[in-house]
Amino acid sequence: MNLFELTKQLMSVPSVSGDEEAVGFFLRDHLVSLGWNVELQPVSEDQNNVIATLNGTPRVWFSTHMDTVPPFIPPTEDDEKIYGRGACDAKGIIAAQITAAERLRKEGIEDIGLLYTVEEERASTGAKAANLHPLAAKCEYMINGEPTDNDLAIGSKGSFRFKIKTHGKAAHSAYPEEGDSAIETLLDILQDIRSTKFPEDEFFGETTVNIGTIDGGLALNVIPPNAEAGFLVRLATKREPIEKALENIVRGRGEIEVLSCSEPVKMVAVDGFPQKVVRFTTDIPHLPNWKNPLLLGPGSILVAHTKDEFVLKSDLEKAVDLYCSLVRKLLTT
Ligand SMILES: [Zn+2]
Repeated sequence: MNLFELTKQLMSVPSVSGDEEAVGFFLRDHLVSLGWNVELQPVSEDQNNVIATLNGTPRVWFSTHMDTVPPFIPPTEDDEKIYGRGACDAKGIIAAQITAAERLRKEGIEDIGLLYTVEEERASTGAKAANLHPLAAKCEYMINGEPTDNDLAIGSKGSFRFKIKTHGKAAHSAYPEEGDSAIETLLDILQDIRSTKFPEDEFFGETTVNIGTIDGGLALNVIPPNAEAGFLVRLATKREPIEKALENIVRGRGEIEVLSCSEPVKMVAVDGFPQKVVRFTTDIPHLPNWKNPLLLGPGSILVAHTKDEFVLKSDLEKAVDLYCSLVRKLLTT
């Protein structure tokens, strides 16, 4: 199956996070037919990571995720592009990595493994399970794929998810002095957060804050007793200084509930490849046992997660070349 055909076949199997079983079976069958040894590593009752090797315990691995964000968008194409869910995030990447591995194999390089995880778009439970796999101990380089426009990402920002909840006192809205509005307290906190300049980092850049959700209140004629907002901070520093700053802002006016955190990570730089820092996070912070991460993939993060997701066919082909030259370089250093 050629590169574009494999991309489209992978894309035609829906695999929104939590529903990756079928695409895992498809990948297993495809890799077995090519002669790979394939293990399905259970993550939950119907979620499995796919782990494939050729001979023994590889030193260099390709990895990315099999799940996509909703909704499923079936693949279409024209001469230049493949469109649809997973085109660049990350099924085109899986296809490019397998095509690269097969090309290297024809050159006699079999020191390669493949790791495809579930649940990257949510809590990275697939990566957390993969981190405990015994083959991790032998890995010297993990080439992870996410859409980086085929540049080598040498750093990725962290991601810190939390909620702030405020509590007040319900009362008849005609008698506001009898109540205490949780929504007004929350708005004050939000305003303070919006006017705060969080610490930056020379390498990773700015820390940015998205107020992603707001909930609260009971009815138009009731002073609201409860409110909450959900945040995602793109971390350019470790979590600690940001959490401290938030505590100072909130100052007992509400409570902070941490949902998850991935710290920023630095990755391996290789001479001769265009390099940059990316603002999104990946499975890499959850795979510390798989030593020495690299990050590169075709397509743009700006179209990933949108209804217009696509990948240029020429970028897929270029990614195969880049993956092959990365592996040759890493195996000879
Ligand atoms: Zn992705």
